[in-house]
Amino acid sequence: MNEVLFQKEEMIEKQLKARGIKDPRVLEAMMEVPREEFIPKALVEHAYKDTPLPIDEEQTISQPYVVGLAAEILNIREDDRVLDVGTGSGYAAAVMSKLGKEVYTIERHKTLAEAAKKRFDQLGYDNIHVLHGDGTKGWPEHAPFDAINIAAGAPRIPEFLKKQLAIGGRLIIPGGSEFRTQRLVLATKMNGEFKERDLGSVQFVPLIGAGGWRNRKEKSVSPKKEKKSVIELIEAVAEPFNNPESADLSPLLERIGDARIVLIGEATHGTSEFYQLRELITRELIKKKGFNIVSLEADWPDVAHLDRFVRDTNVSPPDEEPFIKFPTWMWNNGEVLRFVKWLKDYNENKSEPSQKTGIYGLDFYSMFASVKAIIDYLEDINPSLAETARNRYGCLTPYENNPASYGAAAMSDEYKKCEKDVTHMLYKILANRVEAAEKNGARYLDALQNARLVANSEEYYRNMYLGAQSSWNLRDNHMFGTLMSLMNHRGPDSKAVVWAHNSHVGDASATEMGARGEHNIGQLAKEDFEEKAFNIGFGTYHGTVAAAHNWGDKMSVMNVQPSPKESFEHLMHQVKHDNFLLPLHKKGHEQLTEELEKSRLERAIGVIYRPKTEIQSHYFQASLSNQFDEYIWFDETRAINPLPQRKKEEGVPATYPFGL
Ligand code: SAM
Repeated sequence: MNEVLFQKEEMIEKQLKARGIKDPRVLEAMMEVPREEFIPKALVEHAYKDTPLPIDEEQTISQPYVVGLAAEILNIREDDRVLDVGTGSGYAAAVMSKLGKEVYTIERHKTLAEAAKKRFDQLGYDNIHVLHGDGTKGWPEHAPFDAINIAAGAPRIPEFLKKQLAIGGRLIIPGGSEFRTQRLVLATKMNGEFKERDLGSVQFVPLIGAGGWRNRKEKSVSPKKEKKSVIELIEAVAEPFNNPESADLSPLLERIGDARIVLIGEATHGTSEFYQLRELITRELIKKKGFNIVSLEADWPDVAHLDRFVRDTNVSPPDEEPFIKFPTWMWNNGEVLRFVKWLKDYNENKSEPSQKTGIYGLDFYSMFASVKAIIDYLEDINPSLAETARNRYGCLTPYENNPASYGAAAMSDEYKKCEKDVTHMLYKILANRVEAAEKNGARYLDALQNARLVANSEEYYRNMYLGAQSSWNLRDNHMFGTLMSLMNHRGPDSKAVVWAHNSHVGDASATEMGARGEHNIGQLAKEDFEEKAFNIGFGTYHGTVAAAHNWGDKMSVMNVQPSPKESFEHLMHQVKHDNFLLPLHKKGHEQLTEELEKSRLERAIGVIYRPKTEIQSHYFQASLSNQFDEYIWFDETRAINPLPQRKKEEGVPATYPFGL
């Protein structure tokens, strides 16, 4: 099978069918239209990915799923006349032209309208008519329309379009805020009245025109002048420092106040300065504010090795060496080692176990190490339950070397049983809770956490097959759930630090992740703990980073590209200080908060770095001051110091498929 055909079929199966798009006419139309012809040449390899892509005029071609969803919901029949507002590349119009009789499409950018027209002519779409103009006014000469697709986010349904919709006609619009999440709404015209149905959150570029948003660029002050004033606002608040060791952290500690959860991020998984300063902040939180939990975006059994070392617990993690799976450098590095040694020394001076600070893993990519740990634990306390565990977890065994492939198998009836088996084991262990916890708190917590991990990770791999959004949420739910059970376990005085990527600790609802329906630990912590949760993000402009080119590849030290001018990184780069702490909500500096609320690009480098497709692969829209309480800036950074590997890398990529 040729590569494009294969990618198309995968798109149909995983992005459309698996998410409930069933109409065979829609699936056929999506199969027929060559998306690769509608995007810039440089992005062709991404043509069938589950994402919108940039096109000219800073606009986007819609995500295949959104086009498929709109086409199905609009229920376009063979004789229908369709109005498409916001031609963009023309992809959605092309799909709809396969379903209806005539498609009328309007685009406000002349270059895009002309390019789309040329494309339709070349590809032989003779039932699509293109108009350059303001689509919020519709195309009255060809009204009424049986279906109207509005492909840009608007405050409300434009009045002209309401009038041009036929009775019984369907209209789809992403409604709501200009830059953040919109709700996709289906409005059906019933004898002059509109019946609306909410179809979930989406993110679209704004609809600009008489019935949409005003054109900010045309009306606002010149970008040059505006940028300068934002820089001055930043400089008035920034707390500069030379290097991590010399940073004065007392003002930050004051701002953290009596928060019970401090989430500390990183803009990459391989930058030394982020790790160093994060470690120094954590030491202060432990010494001065009594934080007793340090939790990492790493697997529970791996970090159990570190916890045993720093607190001298009686938990015996599985025999397997910790941190030997890809990406080894993320935790197996000199910066983390320095902290772990410090924490051991700190704990040694504490006489009571309850005064010692523990270190724990929040992540769940260790399904099989966790199964082993549960069985070992049960062998000691309840051998007959150990036998049950061996049987129940048996259904996962064939996937030990490639858990990701479990997702596909789990779609078959045979494997439905697995889901029940792993939850059953979790209940069994929970049922032993009181007795076991009294006898042996730390070991019981370890076993229980491993059983939760297996149950959540089974669900994760099953869902991963169905689409990235739900599996991302399952992972962050698991991490937050683990954090909550740790805090409960340590009692009412517990205070926790979280070390994870910015994309997990910054409030997802302030970024385009929210528009995709994704949430994260930062958002959940803010929702539950409000001002008692404090989150810190990091950023850098250029330098070097430790990352891999592809899943499972060896670590390389790569150059971090300077950031584009639409980004927060570019803004911070213009500030006169190289390194600084930046409180984002300082009293008396509300103007800065407002300026940094405005959506810009933000960079996220995970364990994979692809400088060649940097904008598509590593940037997303965010509202910085809604995302974080504090931002820490290092203009130039260098790669982390990995420790020598103890064993050959094995197993699937640990953070697959997100890499963050
Ligand atoms: N469905 C398109 C595709 O598949 O390529 C993508 C549409 S893109 C998300 C939204 C488009 O709406 C942009 O090209 C933008 O220029 C256009 N747009 C925004 N406001 C408009 C208006 N008032 N009239 C016409 N087009 C508009």
